[in-house]
Amino acid sequence: MCGMKFLLPALALLFAVPVFADTNVDQLAEGELPSLLSIYKDLHAHPELSTQEEQTSALVAKELRAAGCEVTDHFGKYDNPNYKGYGVIGLMKNGSGPTVLVRTDMDALPVEEETGLPYASKVTTKNDEGREVHVMHACGHDVHVASFLGVVRAMQRLKDRWHGTIIFVGQPAEELGSGARALLKAGLYSRFGKPDFALGFHDKADMQTGHIGVTEGYTYANVDSVNITVRGVGGHGAYPHKTKDPIVLSAEIINALQTIISREKNPLDPAVITVGSIHGGTKHNIIPDEVKMQLTVRSYKADVRDHLLSAIDRIAKGCAVAAGFPPERAPIVEVLKNEFTPATYNNPELTKRLVAVWKKQLGDENVELVDPTMGGEDFSEYSLPDHSIPAVDFHVGAVDPAKIAESNKTGTPLPSLHSSKFAPEPEPTIRTAVRAMTTAVLELMKK
Ligand SMILES: [Zn+2]
Ligand SMILES: [Zn+2]
Repeated sequence: MCGMKFLLPALALLFAVPVFADTNVDQLAEGELPSLLSIYKDLHAHPELSTQEEQTSALVAKELRAAGCEVTDHFGKYDNPNYKGYGVIGLMKNGSGPTVLVRTDMDALPVEEETGLPYASKVTTKNDEGREVHVMHACGHDVHVASFLGVVRAMQRLKDRWHGTIIFVGQPAEELGSGARALLKAGLYSRFGKPDFALGFHDKADMQTGHIGVTEGYTYANVDSVNITVRGVGGHGAYPHKTKDPIVLSAEIINALQTIISREKNPLDPAVITVGSIHGGTKHNIIPDEVKMQLTVRSYKADVRDHLLSAIDRIAKGCAVAAGFPPERAPIVEVLKNEFTPATYNNPELTKRLVAVWKKQLGDENVELVDPTMGGEDFSEYSLPDHSIPAVDFHVGAVDPAKIAESNKTGTPLPSLHSSKFAPEPEPTIRTAVRAMTTAVLELMKK
């Protein structure tokens, strides 16, 4: 006993991994790193916009086939008939046992890259409106794909240690919030089986490499997009008494909407209403006929969401009544159903179970419990609206610790996700992602 006590810490130091770490997993991740890095750089240099993920999905399909998966590609059904489904499903079957879904997103953003990296994207393409736009992996979905393929390869090599079926999902159009829904609509669960667990991860632009983070319970918000058309009766700016001014009414509505947050809902339930866009009028001396506003509305709980959406409608219309607008010119409030992203809920029991194995694999100090955010992530769709499929979406640190220290010292913020200057440190991010995800899948499927 005495000997063991000294031997174990010595071994841990020797391999620079925690005492109880699965060295098999770490060696596999390390062995694949050079190949995964070159995949990453290739993806980074060749990003594709949401619903245009043709080459990326072909690469994912090829890799899944090479790892012995049964592959279905060109999968997914959007509400918009013009969109092509570039989802890829790879089934890795290994006898009877649990079914675990592992997801990566694949799409990039219309951003002009300014990282100065040798493998920076110079790609331009046409967006939905036919306008030429630059394309960049500014959210790190390229690092997700490379890490995901590392997990695919590791799980193939470790087949003697687990049983069951892994549903590997290459998901398109995360940035539109409609990619996961398109896969489910095309029959993801009816065709390939309903998983017992669903796992995903996202790189984190303010967390150091080598660390992962997770939140128990709600981790991302319900995201709704709402359009309000405030209609008035236009006329000359010099004779306001002969008009119904939609600009003054819009100003009142905007202020009144914030009372939903401050006065109407329980202060212990987080929620946000942001008017992100307002357009109306053409000239100093004309009162226009209408003003258009675009809102993002965020919440965690379903009943809070319902309340926010109905209160926005009530307040917009009520303000118009109070201002004496005729009923036929009442504001039009439209909730964009196709753009809804449900809240992401990390099953608390599953989170605890994974945190325990992650701490063993990565070291206690490298697993952080992080606060939830009001951001959105359509990974939530895989757990279904009632959260009946236990799911966990975790964060993987992507920033050089020296850059975090520098930013703390100078007060200059680090580039956020979606910034033209954001780039994960690929090697340590992929290494940690592969180690963490492989460890999680093994835990859920071990013999
Ligand atoms: Zn994003
Ligand atoms: Zn993202």
